[in-house]
Amino acid sequence: GEPLAVSARVAPLGSRLVLLLVEDLTEARRTEAVRRDFVANVSHELKTPVGALSLLSEAVMDAADDPEAVNRFAGRMQVEATRLTSLVQEIIDLSRVQNDDPLEGAEPVAVDDLVAEAVDRCRHPANAKQITMATGGAPDLYVWGHRGQLAAALGNLVENAVNYSPARTRVGIAGRRVPGPGGDLIEISVTDQGTGISQADRERIFERFYRVDPARSRATGGTGLGLSIVKHVAASHGGEVTVWSAEGQGSTFTLRLPEAGSVRSGESRKDESA
Ligand code: ADP
Repeated sequence: GEPLAVSARVAPLGSRLVLLLVEDLTEARRTEAVRRDFVANVSHELKTPVGALSLLSEAVMDAADDPEAVNRFAGRMQVEATRLTSLVQEIIDLSRVQNDDPLEGAEPVAVDDLVAEAVDRCRHPANAKQITMATGGAPDLYVWGHRGQLAAALGNLVENAVNYSPARTRVGIAGRRVPGPGGDLIEISVTDQGTGISQADRERIFERFYRVDPARSRATGGTGLGLSIVKHVAASHGGEVTVWSAEGQGSTFTLRLPEAGSVRSGESRKDESA
């Protein structure tokens, strides 16, 4: 590992006593390195579409008397602009989930609502690839948290399942209650029949901007930020996200979150009070 960084201060206490203050700076240093990496990555990711837009706009001007070429370049400009928009949106989402306290404004959130919203968000790309979305009803399941953040997390998992699956496959989304150490937990799993993820990549996909295949991710409008948002949301809600995968067969991402009923002990769940 890396050497331990310490700051030591010697405080004289009377004539013979010496107090040695040792502070572990490793953590502070690591946070700073992560922040620096993030800024470098963001700059790089933003420069790519901006650079492309700038080149394409020059190409449009040069091709002014060739309407077909103008059309083609304009189409590519639109793709880059869309990429830029989703990148900016995800950077904003990420900074939001990192800074907003999810338990401020927390409420019981119906798993069925989250699933419906996630499916809705992916309806267009799923239809285009004839991917079947299979959802089992989970009418009595409620998680405790920030509705918008939870919807963003599940939406990202379903979006990935659709993006990294071949045509005419199936994406399954299911919720169930499982016993946890401090009360029941709700598990929401998203299963696809896609490319799968190798063991080495499974260890890194939750890092910001990490992509197994950057060209493929870019082609589907990916930013490499989705799973880091999911991980943040899960952790800040007192839950976790895990992945199981077999290469060439598919993957299952599982979100585990505190059940609304077990967090708000003494209060009735929404389904019971409605
Ligand atoms: P991206 O915007 O690239 O999808 P994510 O953070 O959501 O970024 O995912 C990181 C990488 O993990 C993706 O680029 C892809 O390589 C891989 N990945 C995520 N979900 C899946 C999946 N369901 N099947 C296969 N690979 C996946």
